[in-house]
Amino acid sequence: MTEKDKPVISDSKDALVRVTLGSICTSDLHIKHGSVPRAVSGITVGHEMVGIVESVGAAVRKVKPGDRVTVNVETFCGECFFCRNGYVNNCTDPSGGWALGCRIDGGQAEYVRVPYADQGLDVIPESVTDEQALFVGDVLATGFWAARISEIKPDDTVLIIGAGPTGICTLLCVMLKCPGRVIVCEKSPERQDFIRRHYPSVEVVAPEDCLQVMSACERGGADVVIEVAGADDTFRLAWESARPNAIVTVVALYDTPQVLPLPDMYGKNLIFKTGGVDGCDCAEILSLIEAGLIDTTPLITHRFTLSEIEEAYRIFENKLDGVIKIAVEC
Ligand SMILES: [Zn+2]
Ligand SMILES: [Zn+2]
Repeated sequence: MTEKDKPVISDSKDALVRVTLGSICTSDLHIKHGSVPRAVSGITVGHEMVGIVESVGAAVRKVKPGDRVTVNVETFCGECFFCRNGYVNNCTDPSGGWALGCRIDGGQAEYVRVPYADQGLDVIPESVTDEQALFVGDVLATGFWAARISEIKPDDTVLIIGAGPTGICTLLCVMLKCPGRVIVCEKSPERQDFIRRHYPSVEVVAPEDCLQVMSACERGGADVVIEVAGADDTFRLAWESARPNAIVTVVALYDTPQVLPLPDMYGKNLIFKTGGVDGCDCAEILSLIEAGLIDTTPLITHRFTLSEIEEAYRIFENKLDGVIKIAVEC
């Protein structure tokens, strides 16, 4: 924790947001551990937050001071080839992509400057609380995108590997597609219990049983596999659990390179899709929350104030106390 000057609007497309609620993401830990090469040393971290617009630059049209907003993890111009096609993660603007809390000061702070505010902010409907909207810009956007690109059909068996925060958000968005079977593979008994308790229609398997359960499926494996765990052996588990011609969506961020053993998978004719999120569906996600179709509030297991954030990091990093997500009141 350190004192910094209050950020100021430096471009006509900027907005200044007073952060009301923020969260800690696993990517913040990756920065802390030095595994995000692009992260700028000394940057204020935090890229998952909601707040109230304090002021806007002259070119901002979508939001005005006083609006309660979600902040998008990605900065994007909305005009380049990639933005126009919805691939906002690859926006060609020099400050495009994951900039907030990585290359420019983020939101584990009282105020944050948001570039391209018309793209980066979405107004929260009146009936949706800050806690309900907290994950819209990052982990929930990721889960929504993962479910969207996985082309799930009604009689599909969908396997989600990993029931951390992003895995659970993915699960919520997969359930919106109403596939025939949803199976979550997770090694932590606490998280297995969490899934059974909150989502009784979802089957839960431990990693050591996963291949056996999946090979017993009607078509010899999952129709769709979404790999969110990013552990040492979960990439292999993902494609081995898939039936021939399945879609394998890799959302996970790995610490080490993964092996794609093409001779072993020859003839299986798999379709791989890879991360990271194109976070351009936030308005749609907010309306699904407003309609009561997505609820991520059970994920908030711990609450802290900004002055307690070092303790919050200790708990989140060491996965203490059954922590899933932490809300930080700023
Ligand atoms: Zn994140
Ligand atoms: Zn762009």
